[in-house]
Amino acid sequence: MNSSSPIKISGAGPAGIAAALAITSKGYRAVICERRDDVGKRFHGDFQGLENWTIQKDVLEELTELGIQIDFDYHPINEVVCFDPAGTERIFRSQAPLFYLLHRGKEKGSFDYALKQQALKAGVEIRFKTRISKLPEGGIVTEGPHRADILASGYLFDTDMADGMYAVVSDDLAPKGYAYLLIHQGRGTLSSCMFRGFHGERNYLEQCVDFFQTSVGLRMKNPHRFGGVGNSALPKKVKKLSTLYAGEVAGFQDPLFGFGIRWAVVSGVAAGNAMASGDLRQYETIIKKRLKPHYQSAATNRWFYEKLGNRGYSKTLKHFPPNRDVRKWLQRAYAPCWWKRVWYMLIVSRSVKPLLDLSKNCDCTWCRCKR
Ligand SMILES: Cc1cc2nc3c(=O)[nH]c(=O)nc-3n(C[C@H](O)[C@H](O)[C@H](O)COP(=O)(O)OP(=O)(O)OC[C@H]3O[C@@H](n4cnc5c(N)ncnc54)[C@H](O)[C@@H]3O)c2cc1C
Repeated sequence: MNSSSPIKISGAGPAGIAAALAITSKGYRAVICERRDDVGKRFHGDFQGLENWTIQKDVLEELTELGIQIDFDYHPINEVVCFDPAGTERIFRSQAPLFYLLHRGKEKGSFDYALKQQALKAGVEIRFKTRISKLPEGGIVTEGPHRADILASGYLFDTDMADGMYAVVSDDLAPKGYAYLLIHQGRGTLSSCMFRGFHGERNYLEQCVDFFQTSVGLRMKNPHRFGGVGNSALPKKVKKLSTLYAGEVAGFQDPLFGFGIRWAVVSGVAAGNAMASGDLRQYETIIKKRLKPHYQSAATNRWFYEKLGNRGYSKTLKHFPPNRDVRKWLQRAYAPCWWKRVWYMLIVSRSVKPLLDLSKNCDCTWCRCKR
């Protein structure tokens, strides 16, 4: 790799910027082409969670070690009120933060704005309004989802409600997924995060509004609709000739609940380091070690989660020990182990593939084929 020719990256999301920062930290030049006119335009100022439960290490510590400065607005969350399909409430607590609440979009204080500033300061060139369809000389593709396995549909709003984090698991509100309501300092994000039933999107969303009005007294002022899709299916290869794929375009997202920010940064940095070193195989090795085992475990969890249905969700929540630390419990649930690896192989093998259905969702709500 020669320091006079910059390494090209397509997409200025967390994965692309993390990759560029890794490249510049090694003394090479990076240029990011972003099809939109700014960073974070896929989002709308919505609250998202930087998950802190898939591994023991705190996510902020991990990001710092990966070269990301924690100079965005964030708020640690140690308590979530969770409802079962019948509306029965359970409070889940953790000693260490379960996740960090942050906001996405182009505004100051958002995760995306902070990453952009860090990149510009490091000398990364970002070419906005530049769409890339091919990288003939190689580079890193971090273009976000190319398909929809998950659909989030919701409202952003102002509110006079007290701060609170709420979730509900119910196939009547978010088929095979969950709905959430996040209130922080007078702003709110409500969403139905569906893994099935995309065509009923509007109906599910309105049922979520009704549910939260009844259960926690939801009050929305100036509501705006927002939404988006997510990809959580791994491609066959994360390296094709001299091109690496990182972030959500490569399916690096928790397939159980659809949390992708952490995995986007981890894979972006790994791709950037591999490009800078000139040893692209290094990328596959790191992915196999750091992300793939957790992906396999989470995909297996999803397979079981999909079998639960409303009765199963209620039973699972009911039997969760009241004083148990939910972060530690989730860590165990995501921990890779031999039987989950075997189960995952069975799930993805041709013989039982139809049962998994991780990739079968139709995305025509978004592709407008009007099916
Ligand atoms: C509504 C919603 C809520 C979510 N909530 C959470 C959450 O709470 N926690 C969590 O961890 N994750 C969440 N996610 C997922 C998370 O946001 C993504 O996994 C993460 O942003 C992926 O980062 P990325 O860099 O891979 O892709 P992106 O953030 O999608 O960035 C890709 C960038 O590439 C650009 N691009 C696309 N194609 C091209 C092209 N051809 N040329 C140039 N540029 C291109 C896009 O404009 C975009 O800016 C949510 C997703 C959605 C939709």
